[in-house]
Amino acid sequence: MSTAHDAPTSDPPFHLRCVECGGDWPGLALRSRCDCGGTLDVVHAFPDPPSRALLDARLGSKQPLDRSGVWRYRELILPVEPEFVATRREGNTGLYDAPRVATYVGLDALSLKHEGENPTGSFKDRGMTAGVTMARKLGMTRVACASTGNTSASMAAYAAAAGLEALVFIPEGKIAYGKLSQALAYGARTLQIEGDFDAAMKLVQAVCDDEGVYLLNSINPFRIEGQKAIGFEILQDLDWRAPDWIVLPGGNLGNSSALAKGLGELRALGLIDRLPRIAVVQAAGANPLYTAWRAARDLVPVRAQTIATAIQIGDPVSWRKCLRGLAETDGVVTEVDDQAIVDAKAQVDAAGIGAEPASCATVAGLKRLVAEGVIAPDAHVVGVLTGHLLKDPDVVVHYHQGTLAGLRSTFANAPVRVRGELDEVRRLLRAGRAPR
Ligand SMILES: *Cc1c(COP(=O)(O)O)cnc(C)c1O
Ligand SMILES: [Zn+2]
Repeated sequence: MSTAHDAPTSDPPFHLRCVECGGDWPGLALRSRCDCGGTLDVVHAFPDPPSRALLDARLGSKQPLDRSGVWRYRELILPVEPEFVATRREGNTGLYDAPRVATYVGLDALSLKHEGENPTGSFKDRGMTAGVTMARKLGMTRVACASTGNTSASMAAYAAAAGLEALVFIPEGKIAYGKLSQALAYGARTLQIEGDFDAAMKLVQAVCDDEGVYLLNSINPFRIEGQKAIGFEILQDLDWRAPDWIVLPGGNLGNSSALAKGLGELRALGLIDRLPRIAVVQAAGANPLYTAWRAARDLVPVRAQTIATAIQIGDPVSWRKCLRGLAETDGVVTEVDDQAIVDAKAQVDAAGIGAEPASCATVAGLKRLVAEGVIAPDAHVVGVLTGHLLKDPDVVVHYHQGTLAGLRSTFANAPVRVRGELDEVRRLLRAGRAPR
């Protein structure tokens, strides 16, 4: 241990712990895995936890850190010197009452937390602000990720704002245009890899180890810390009264792991008095967590295929953390097929809220869990919408035009062709519109 005399900088009040073997590593160790191959958790000492009153007071503050929906909770996320913080006022997303969607899924009431309202249009910004801040704290100048789209969009933006070089690995032809265009626009060096996300993920890990580039996938434990703030913000939105359920989609499983970790910490610190249960929803074509959870065994990777490209992941990095979090929160996992996802999406969109396909797995999964009696109709439920509607305009237009390959357009709202004459338009309007 260093003393006050020989320590130029003090140790941070956190360290890293391996999820597999329990081995401890220094908080500032430059590694994303333990020597045993296990993923790492950030373990906080929490020397100075905030009170609810302090967190609420920060909502009225004009300080940049207080105005961020991540750094408002900084003592619980990443206690580092403010000069390293790369923030774009992320978080602060809406928690919407969605009665029409509630009816669709069979609930009396439903709130939707719209993470698509983050600066680059997905919850990834919450993790990225923490990850890029840590890159600066560690003196790294280059960052990289493999991505189904939103991680690269977010990393490219935060790296550009922080003056870091960004390197993005994306699976060729498997990323929505809204996301690819962001990575290019923000100036990331973008490599299209032949193969799927899981192949790109393996490649980027090897490149980062080899070339001294900082890896910003959700295997990075500090990204998980930033993403905890979704749960913190939901609880603060609800005046610190825990809902019965929080429901979210699962792909690489960083977000569900983060939610469970953060809620557990809130309860341990006495900021909430009970834990919400967590429901993770997977696409049926990318369901290795669902299969592992049902059989109570280790995860077996699958080859993933779903219209919800953000969760088209067959070999999720954070599965062990996620299963641990589900055990701690008495959580459940379900799966929904692509038809259920696109129809749920049409409902979320038509409610005036709107979200990308993977986000709407949340709503499709809720419908299933209510129908199966897992979630009671009068339960207090918060669903997380993870990404913005405009991330994937192709799916929207094809759905409403009835041209989605292999899928029905149950709630289509097709554009109508009409001659540019008043009489024609009048006749059309008077004929009315079929109910949707
Ligand atoms: C990344 C992402 C997910 C999946 O989150 P994981 O942490 O990988 O499980 C879901 N929806 C959207 C829109 C995403 O960008
Ligand atoms: Zn280990």
